[in-house]
Amino acid sequence: MNRDWELRAVCRNLDPDIFFQNSTKAEAKAACGRCPVRAECFEAVMAREEGLSVGYRDGIFAALEPGERASLAVARGQVRKPPKKKPRGAGRKQAECGTRAAYHRHQRKGEPIDQACKDAHALGNREYRRTGSTKVATAR
Ligand code: SF4
Ligand SMILES: [Zn+2]
Repeated sequence: MNRDWELRAVCRNLDPDIFFQNSTKAEAKAACGRCPVRAECFEAVMAREEGLSVGYRDGIFAALEPGERASLAVARGQVRKPPKKKPRGAGRKQAECGTRAAYHRHQRKGEPIDQACKDAHALGNREYRRTGSTKVATAR
């Protein structure tokens, strides 16, 4: 990428800190406002920050604050919106009856417990007393 435009950037001759401090925000934006390479700077920062959420963007570039760039990135489809959180347990297959997991689910939900689940639970308990682990019963 051709970066000759950076030689014409107004901020080259300014204290870089003004672009990263709240108290000098207006000064930074004014500098960008009179900068001849603002368009190039804008595309460069958008490319550099591609895919980043607002928390990972910092400073004023092309007169835009991190939040403004993040919004523009979303509008341009450059940032994936965070996936909607699935409700707990969604998409997970329920344990079938006759397993200890199903037994515990019945218990948790206050459901009546069928014989198959009672048996699985009892077997698990026996294995546990025998070996100190219920994994043995389920591994077989
Ligand atoms: S527009 Fe970009 S290159 Fe120009 S002064 Fe602002 S930050 Fe620097
Ligand atoms: Zn059951």
